[in-house]
Amino acid sequence: MALQSEIVIVGGGAGGLELACKLGRKLGPSKVMLVDCRLYHIWKPSLHEVAAGTLDIHQEGLSYQMLAHDNGFTFIYGPMTALDSASRSITVGAVRAADGEDVLHERQVRYGSLVIAVGSTSNYFGVPGAREHTISLNATEDAERFRLRLLRLMAVAEQAREERHDADAALDIVIIGGGATGVELAAELREASGVYATYGFSRLQVQRDVRITLLEGAPRILAPLPERVSNAALKLLGERGIRVVNDCRVTAIEPQRVLDKNGNIYPASLCVWAAGIKAPDFLASLGLPVNKGGQIEVDAQLRVAGVPGVYALGDCAACIDASGNPVPPRAQAAHQQADYLGNGFLRQAAGKPPKEAPYRYRDYGSLVSLGKTTSVGSLMGSLRGASWFVEGMMARFMYTSLHLMHHKAVLGTMRTGVLAVARFLVRRATPLVKLH
Ligand SMILES: Cc1cc2nc3c(=O)[nH]c(=O)nc-3n(C[C@H](O)[C@H](O)[C@H](O)COP(=O)(O)OP(=O)(O)OC[C@H]3O[C@@H](n4cnc5c(N)ncnc54)[C@H](O)[C@@H]3O)c2cc1C
Repeated sequence: MALQSEIVIVGGGAGGLELACKLGRKLGPSKVMLVDCRLYHIWKPSLHEVAAGTLDIHQEGLSYQMLAHDNGFTFIYGPMTALDSASRSITVGAVRAADGEDVLHERQVRYGSLVIAVGSTSNYFGVPGAREHTISLNATEDAERFRLRLLRLMAVAEQAREERHDADAALDIVIIGGGATGVELAAELREASGVYATYGFSRLQVQRDVRITLLEGAPRILAPLPERVSNAALKLLGERGIRVVNDCRVTAIEPQRVLDKNGNIYPASLCVWAAGIKAPDFLASLGLPVNKGGQIEVDAQLRVAGVPGVYALGDCAACIDASGNPVPPRAQAAHQQADYLGNGFLRQAAGKPPKEAPYRYRDYGSLVSLGKTTSVGSLMGSLRGASWFVEGMMARFMYTSLHLMHHKAVLGTMRTGVLAVARFLVRRATPLVKLH
């Protein structure tokens, strides 16, 4: 028998999960269903912390089953693989364990309204070797794979120094892409490697033995942000012994090295791809209109043209908002769109006429984390074009508050919320890394 729900949301990330929680609390589990191919949720902007080992997925991951229970929606575990818009149903594929064991069989889910919020994946731009020899930070498993490999490489370097007195034993980490993800990862790794050295790798001197290089194709890192923010980030990275190479076009990646168009070779024991994103490939097979990057085209009310009852939001949606500008793939956009759609569905459920005002993206600025104690960025004012440069502890506090807002949106009761926030702040104030 097919599963069914009035509102089916596919993708429990920054946008989809907030929408499921908001609707579930008002409409209940018989009317709201969330489908995700994972069992637990980690807020994607914190994946660089998972990679560095400063955030433990086993402590911070929020179980979808628990969130469904607390917020009043139904959770279905599995990947969406197909859409039949004529019969208003989606296919949720089988789930198989890593060892090949069948866990769940394929299912059909019928919907009244469908919201697709499946996020984004890496865009390798056809660079040879990028897919095979780099790790991206697009999913929790990638970040965890990076962390375990980092630990292994540090153990190898430590052992070489201890047993063979090998003075050259070191690790070269190359991060490709000097956007927010690459910059945040570089800074977090530098801090984390210091903590690793304190706890278990006493023979490694972090600045000497954990060499971090950030390669950026544009003339400056954080290119979409004001120049002052780039300069401040560059200075902070320099102070942490991180090498930044701008105007660097990567042409190939091999198992232990990265090559650029000027013939430079960068040794790389561990290489991260943070140079671009695109929509997940399966979206192009759903019969929905998609743009060149594979994102689903939606109007400013987040509806897919010509396909009644289907909406998309977040990174996987190509939306030109009410001001005529494309909405950027950012957590704050996903959060706002979830809120916008949620209000529309709640009006509908209450029998009120739809609110015609189209969605308008509000840019509140961008903050880039540079470790536990500092961030840099610019905050947008309400006056057109005005932005304020922010830096240091204050910026760090504002950066953290973005994550807290997400926690607040997905945690059901005040008590649970307060406890989770307290736990969250304590963890972030404690210089610990995950060593196993
Ligand atoms: C390291 C890093 C740092 C970032 N920092 C910031 C920041 O500081 N500020 C900011 O605004 N943005 C930041 N971003 C971008 C931000 O994370 C994304 O824009 C945001 O998460 C997009 O939200 P979403 O809901 O569209 O998708 P996601 O949050 O990516 O969620 C997608 C969900 O869909 C699920 N899914 C995928 N495929 C399927 C399928 N076939 N079936 C079922 N479920 C599926 C996934 O499991 C996931 O739960 C950062 C991103 C990264 C990687």
